[in-house]
Amino acid sequence: MGKITGFLEFDRKVEEYAPADERIKNYKEFTLPMKEKELKDQGARCMDCGIPFCHSGCPLGNLIPDFNDAVYLGKWDKAAEILHSTNNFPEFTGRLCPAPCEEACVLGINEDPVTIENIEKNIVETAFKKGWVVAEPPATRTGKTVAVIGSGPAGLAAAQQLNRAGHLVTLYERDEKVGGLLRYGIPDFKMEKNIIDRRVKILEEEGIIIKTGVHVGVDVLATELQDQFDAIVLTGGATVRRGLPIEGADLKGVVQAMDFLKQNNKRVDGIKDLGEEIKATGKNVVVIGGGDTGSDCIGTSIRHGAASVSNFEILGKPPVGRPEDQPWPFWPMRLRTSSSHKEGVDRFFSISTKKFIGDKNGNLKGLITSEVEWITVPGKRPILKEISNTEKEWKCELALLAMGFTGSEMTIAEQLGLEADARTNIKASEADYKTNVPGVYVAGDQRRGQSLIVWAISEGRQAAYHVDTYLMGTSYLPLKGEGDLPRV
Ligand SMILES: Cc1cc2nc3c(=O)[nH]c(=O)nc-3n(C[C@H](O)[C@H](O)[C@H](O)COP(=O)(O)OP(=O)(O)OC[C@H]3O[C@@H](n4cnc5c(N)ncnc54)[C@H](O)[C@@H]3O)c2cc1C
Ligand code: SF4
Repeated sequence: MGKITGFLEFDRKVEEYAPADERIKNYKEFTLPMKEKELKDQGARCMDCGIPFCHSGCPLGNLIPDFNDAVYLGKWDKAAEILHSTNNFPEFTGRLCPAPCEEACVLGINEDPVTIENIEKNIVETAFKKGWVVAEPPATRTGKTVAVIGSGPAGLAAAQQLNRAGHLVTLYERDEKVGGLLRYGIPDFKMEKNIIDRRVKILEEEGIIIKTGVHVGVDVLATELQDQFDAIVLTGGATVRRGLPIEGADLKGVVQAMDFLKQNNKRVDGIKDLGEEIKATGKNVVVIGGGDTGSDCIGTSIRHGAASVSNFEILGKPPVGRPEDQPWPFWPMRLRTSSSHKEGVDRFFSISTKKFIGDKNGNLKGLITSEVEWITVPGKRPILKEISNTEKEWKCELALLAMGFTGSEMTIAEQLGLEADARTNIKASEADYKTNVPGVYVAGDQRRGQSLIVWAISEGRQAAYHVDTYLMGTSYLPLKGEGDLPRV
């Protein structure tokens, strides 16, 4: 621990945002860099606890007090080494992670927690600026081949780990570019896409073969890949979107959030051929769903120049602070306000959309809602109850359905004979990521259902360890929280 009194001397400080009225003029990231002295002070706030609960809060088991200390001491190269030892892509998590580590930080019991995520981002950005992030191709090749199917954070992490173990990895992606939801879901104002590109360039330099525009199961049968490769890792995500099967759901103007976000991400990327345009410009937009996807639809609609943006969430409004029944160090269900929420949206909770209304040409012109309440019965799932006489009509020309994903697609599972659970997540346990078919592994959202980037990276790393063990009988890849720093 560098500075014993750090947490007493310095208040929590994170990067500030450019003013909302300026940042909504474009799709660029808008955080304002902090001075090195300020970052070191934030590192000094870490108490280097005997039992660092932040470790267990982080799905990657990041070695948080160690990199905090290195930052406090100005040893940025050491910090970058520690950080990369458990996390292949801290530039993604440092921008996008909801930071369960910070909710688990011991300082958070009675003070503001350490700014772990912001420190993480600044370590990796310093490392890129200084040229420390370079390709690390394996010294020798094992002669084994692995196909990784799906290039989101789980697939990228699995591919990099397996390649480092010396296997020849081919990464298949059906979209034109790699990145999964990092590229086509998350807007540039949360993470500019050059951040993915510079990392992918390194992966290619390390020897990973990337094949985009290949839909496995359609362009090439999964069974053909099974014959060609020694092992397969499925990292295809949870891509089946939840619909809203109510009257009027087929009207023009009722749009799935991912169609809206994907098209906009391609537009920002300069792609011209986008099919039918989906834009919020001049429209009254209702975003149905209060999670990350909903928040990204809000920020994008505001950048399009929507006339108004409203956000509906069927759950009740959570408290701003930590609820009593969700004590530290657990992840609390509390009100989260994203940068997009601060750009101009009206948020409504405990509200259910009952019907979409169209004009005579089949265009959406409004919708009807009811207020709802949740009846809790101890030991049972809460029951949704509509409150009578609360119907309300809203003007709306664009409704964005951001209600999450129900599971994964089944084409590959059917071709390979894989077992799936009732939600169509491919079955494999967290103990070994093995499916019921030998040599076929699964990680990320395709295994656990819709989740987080940090979990996808963590699962990709863990699955790689088990694939390596399957191929070689043993593995030198690190397990969760171990890091791949030299072992003593
Ligand atoms: C709009 C939105 C915003 C989000 N924001 C955040 C956030 O801020 N922070 C956070 O932590 N999480 C966020 N998430 C969740 C996070 O993006 C996902 O949990 C994470 O990307 C899952 O990673 P993955 O690698 O398992 O799958 P994905 O990222 O979904 O990648 C799967 C990839 O596999 C490809 N694929 C699928 N099937 C095939 C096939 N048969 N052949 C070839 N390729 C195939 C897909 O095209 C895709 O590229 C967000 C999700 C959405 C939708
Ligand atoms: S990856 Fe997420 S949980 Fe882990 S240290 Fe970074 S911000 Fe915290």
